[in-house]
Amino acid sequence: MTVHPTNLLNLTPAEAVTTLRAFAVSVGEAPYRGSQVARRLWESPASGFDAMSELPADFRARLAEHFTMPRLALTSEQASTDGTRKFLFSLADGQSIETVAIPDGKRLTLCVSSQAGCALQCAFCATGAMGFVRNLEAHEIAGQVRELAFLAEPIKPTNIVFMGMGEPLMNWPAVDTVLTILNNPAGFGIGARHITLSTVGWLPGIEALEARKEQFRLAISIHAPSDALRATLMPVNTKFPLEAVIERAARFSRRVTFEYVMLGGVNDADEHATALAALAKTCGAFVNLIPLHPGGSMGFVPSPPERIHRFASRLKAANVEVAVRRSRGLDIAAACGQLRAERLRRRTPGLAHDDSQVNETA
Ligand code: SF4
Repeated sequence: MTVHPTNLLNLTPAEAVTTLRAFAVSVGEAPYRGSQVARRLWESPASGFDAMSELPADFRARLAEHFTMPRLALTSEQASTDGTRKFLFSLADGQSIETVAIPDGKRLTLCVSSQAGCALQCAFCATGAMGFVRNLEAHEIAGQVRELAFLAEPIKPTNIVFMGMGEPLMNWPAVDTVLTILNNPAGFGIGARHITLSTVGWLPGIEALEARKEQFRLAISIHAPSDALRATLMPVNTKFPLEAVIERAARFSRRVTFEYVMLGGVNDADEHATALAALAKTCGAFVNLIPLHPGGSMGFVPSPPERIHRFASRLKAANVEVAVRRSRGLDIAAACGQLRAERLRRRTPGLAHDDSQVNETA
């Protein structure tokens, strides 16, 4: 019977160390050898077993027979004049996913993807237009952080946001493991308050997130303050209507953030601001207003800056805390699904959808 090697990067740090210490003993090595390997998964990443020069060569060979630690292939990178960098990774089955690194002073936020494609088809989103391909495995999500340690100038993020391709709460088993890897001192050791899950309001996933004891942050894509409008922008509103999402957000044990992409002439009128303020106050939510990239997307146009300013002022006047997110990476395809879509288009002449200048993800 063929025994498939275990992918060590799909395990939590605790599972990995237990597995590796037991394995070390089983092949006649001291248990600490297993701990040495475990440290090279996330804390001090090794590119492969061969790179673990601190281990005896025969032990490395035995490890390679029983375990894998797959890499993601970095196939493309774009750098913006504002310091934002976008990476396209290719997976073992040929799928491509995107990761965006956004520096801001001492902070470096990494925006990671959790699915290849997305089933939810938000009207303004390039990833949604691609359709759903598959869930990412834990190692393919955490690997987006890990790979950056192998750059000529390694990148070590201080913050993680699940705002890349896909709806993270629809891939909870993998995301659950990744949260542990990101947060655990034997993983990347990133504080839970520096890790944000962004969701359309996938209610079963919010329950699962709440069940975790760590203070991971929750952001909910609202994008419209009424069911009628939201249903036209986010088909998922039929499954989880706004009222149910707001009710759940109000019960969430930690402060939530509302994400709201500003679509010119669609959701940016004064009455939308008034209605959004009421919803935010119900939940004590912080509101992030997100300018659509210049040039528009999927038939949408950005709200003019003065309209965004007025919208924000109305929220503030209603005592709602609000920030207008700065658009980053305007000169590169630094938005959900764009780089992957560009690559696909080059490979597939005539790809139907218009994915230019998309700004937001779940
Ligand atoms: S915005 Fe997020 S949830 Fe909506 S289609 Fe895009 S990736 Fe999916």
